[in-house]
Amino acid sequence: MIECDVAIIGGGPAGSTAGALLRQYDPTLRVLIFEREWFPRDHVGESQLPVIGQVLHEMGVWEKVEAAGFPIKVGATYRWGTSDDLWNFDFIPNGQLHDELRPGRFAGQRSETAFQVDRAIYDKILLDHAQELGCTVREGTRVVRVSADGDRVEGLETDDGETTKARYYVDATGGSGLVRRTFGIEVEQPTSLQNIAIWDYWQNAEWAAEIGVGGTRVQVLSLGYGWIWFIPLGPTRTSVGLVVPAAYYKRSRLRTEELYQKAISEEPRIRSLLANATSEGKLLATKDWSFVATRMSGENWWLAGDACGFADPILAAGMTLAHASAREVAYCLLEAIREPEGLSRLREVYNDRHSRRLRQHIRFADYWYSANAHFTDLKEYTREIARAAGLDLDPDRAFQWLGTGGFVNDDLGYASIGAYSIGAIKQIAQVFGGAPADWRINRANEFRLNLVGAHSTTVASFREGRVRYEPAYVRDGKVLALVGPYRHLFNTLQHENSLSRIVGRLEATLPRGLGDPKERVAYCLHALETMVVDGWVKGRLNKKHPSLALRTDDETPTLYRNREPLPVESA
Ligand SMILES: Cc1cc2nc3c(=O)[nH]c(=O)nc-3n(C[C@H](O)[C@H](O)[C@H](O)COP(=O)(O)OP(=O)(O)OC[C@H]3O[C@@H](n4cnc5c(N)ncnc54)[C@H](O)[C@@H]3O)c2cc1C
Repeated sequence: MIECDVAIIGGGPAGSTAGALLRQYDPTLRVLIFEREWFPRDHVGESQLPVIGQVLHEMGVWEKVEAAGFPIKVGATYRWGTSDDLWNFDFIPNGQLHDELRPGRFAGQRSETAFQVDRAIYDKILLDHAQELGCTVREGTRVVRVSADGDRVEGLETDDGETTKARYYVDATGGSGLVRRTFGIEVEQPTSLQNIAIWDYWQNAEWAAEIGVGGTRVQVLSLGYGWIWFIPLGPTRTSVGLVVPAAYYKRSRLRTEELYQKAISEEPRIRSLLANATSEGKLLATKDWSFVATRMSGENWWLAGDACGFADPILAAGMTLAHASAREVAYCLLEAIREPEGLSRLREVYNDRHSRRLRQHIRFADYWYSANAHFTDLKEYTREIARAAGLDLDPDRAFQWLGTGGFVNDDLGYASIGAYSIGAIKQIAQVFGGAPADWRINRANEFRLNLVGAHSTTVASFREGRVRYEPAYVRDGKVLALVGPYRHLFNTLQHENSLSRIVGRLEATLPRGLGDPKERVAYCLHALETMVVDGWVKGRLNKKHPSLALRTDDETPTLYRNREPLPVESA
C-alpha cells in the first residue's frame, strides 16, 4: 500500500497545476499524480486565454512553455450570425502589439496575450514540471476503483493492483469525473448546448494571420449549421475542428468524416488555408461536454478542471477554468492541511466561486448559439453577464472581460475590472473611443465614503499560497474588499476628504520599500476610480482646491490648479 498526503487522479492541466502548486508552496507534502496515459498524447482544447499566463508564471513553468515556441495567440477572428464580415477580437487592441524577440519573458504585452498549444507537448511540459517540483508521477497507471465510506474517499485502486491511501484526493480526470461519479454527484446540463465536435490535425496549413514574431489569431467561422475552429499549434501543425448540434448530425445521416470534409469544402477561408496541407488522418469526435457538477468537494476530496464541468469550446475557456480551479484546489488543500477546522468554509468558497464561473460561461455559450445573430447582440448580452458579476461595463469592455478570461480573475486588491488593471481599461476605452479616456476622479477633488445600505462581511482572497478572509462590504452584488490599495484608501478616507490631503496622507502612510512611491500613489488612485465608479465613494468638485489630471498615457497622477499642473509632491 502507498501512503501520501494528496493523491491526484489525472495528469492533464488541472492535475499538474494542483500538484505543482502544492509542492511549490509546501515542499514537505507527499503528492502523487496518477495518469492512465503515457505522455505525450494528443488532447483537444488548444486555444488559451491570457489569464492562464498568470497561473503558469506562479507555477514557475511559463518560461518552459515559452521555450517550446508555441504560436502566440493575440486574439481571434470570428465570422458569425447574419453577417459575412470577419471580426477581429484582439487581446491588445488596434495593432498596439509590437515585435519582440522570442523566447520572451512573462511581462508587458506577453502577460496580456496567450498561447495556442499542442496539448501533446504542453501537457507533458506541465506534468514533467510537477515531477521536477517533487510530485511522484505514475504515468500509464489508471485508477480503476475509488473506495468510499459516506462522503469520504478511503483509498484508490490502480490497474497495477496497488492501493493508495491519502489524506486528500483530487479528481482531475477531466470529463470522466471518476470521484464525482463514485459519489453520484448530480450534474446540471443545459438542454440547448447539445453539440458534437469532430476534429483532425493538419500538417503545413497556412496561418490565417502572422502578427509580429510568432503571433497569430485563431479562426472561428460560422457555417450556418455549425462552426469551424482553426488553431495553429506550431510552425507546421494545425488543429481544425467542426462543431454542430447533435440533432443536425443525426439528421444529416452522414458519417463523421463525411460531415467534416463537407464542412471544410464549404468554408472558403478554411479551404484555402488547407489547400496545400495534409491531414494526419486522426479524425476524432466527442459530445456531451456541457455540464456543471452540483457539488465540487466532499469530506476529503475535491474536483478540479473538467471534472467540475465545462461549457463549450466557443470561447476557448476550458483550460483557463481548469488551471484556475486547480490552483484554488491546491490553495484550499494547503490551508486545510495547516488548519483542518477551516475545511468546511474553504469548500463553500470554492464551490461558490467555481460554479459561478462555469454558469457564467454556460449562459454565454447558450446565448451565443441561440442568438446566432450579430456580434452587437452578443456584446450586449455579455454586458448583462458582467452586470450579474457585479461589473458595470459597456458592451465592448464586457466582451473583452469575458473573452480574455477576466471571469477567473478574482484577485482582490488589484485595481481592476476582470483581468484588466483599471489603467488598461482606460487605455482600451481610449483606443476604442478614439478620444482621451475619462477618469471620473479628474472631475472631483473632495471624496467621501458612501457605505449607505452596505453590509460588512469577509471575502476569500487567494494569494501567495494562502487563502485569507479579508474584511469587505457588499451592496447590490458589488463587493468592496479592504485589501491592498483599497484598504489604504478606505483608512485614508476616514481621516481626509480633500484630494491633496488624501494624496499627502497616502504618501506618508503607504509602507516604504515597495517600489516607486509615485507609482504606489497612482495605484491607490486607480482604486479610488473604481470605488467612485462602483458608488463606494462620492466625489464633488470644490473649485477653490486643486484637482487631479490623471492621464491614460502615463497614468502618473498630477494635481493641477487652474489648468497649471502642480507636481504631487508640492500639493
Ligand atoms: C471539442 C472541444 C474543444 C475544446 N477546445 C478548447 C479550447 O480551444 N480551449 C480551451 O481552453 N479548452 C478547450 N476545450 C476544453 C479543454 O479540453 C478542457 O477544459 C481541458 O482539457 C481540461 O483539463 P483537465 O486537466 O481538467 O482534463 P483533461 O485535460 O481531460 O485531463 C484529464 C486527464 O486525466 C486522465 N485520466 C482520466 N481518467 C483517469 C483515471 N481513471 N486514472 C488515471 N488518469 C485518468 C486522462 O488521461 C487525462 O490525461 C475543449 C473541449 C472540447 C470538448
